Amino acid sequence: MASKLILLDQDGVLADFEQGVRQLWQQTYQQPLPLAERRHFYLRDDMALQFHHQLDELYSSKGFFASLPPMLDGIAAAKRLLEAGHDVRICTSPIQAYHYCVSEKFDWIGQHLGEEWLQRIILTKDKTWVRGDILIDDKPQISGSLIPQWQHWIYDQPYNRDQTKLKRVNWSQPETWSELLQ
Ligand SMILES: [Mg+2]
Repeated sequence: MASKLILLDQDGVLADFEQGVRQLWQQTYQQPLPLAERRHFYLRDDMALQFHHQLDELYSSKGFFASLPPMLDGIAAAKRLLEAGHDVRICTSPIQAYHYCVSEKFDWIGQHLGEEWLQRIILTKDKTWVRGDILIDDKPQISGSLIPQWQHWIYDQPYNRDQTKLKRVNWSQPETWSELLQ
């Protein structure tokens, strides 16, 4: 495949946001995340209203974003895509409570991918403004004010399985993305 501009989402694609929430919830509130099943993109939509405040507290707490565990095989995959000659960028949207989120997203990339990847970060609230050939993202529908130039490949997660129209990628299933290495 000719060299492509590949945009990788951070949370849910490189960083295991879900696992990070579960771990910190257990640690903070001494009980498992009160959640029956994962069906919606936003965790809060699968949780009772009474827990939303605690969830917000957790997202905006110091150290949350920096300590997210990496997704299985995600770091190696990002490096392989770069080695294959693609221009790989990390395209990520900070949460509204940006204070720790923004700096810790950078910390995370530096720690897990290396300092040289810091220059590959693109922070935006609207990914349709970013040029690219492919955007690999776990969000089922990505909207914004422009018509996207990239093709959305969905990163496989339990909460987006009803999205059947997009090409589905899972780092641990090489056949889902190995065409990018050829
Ligand atoms: Mg995401």
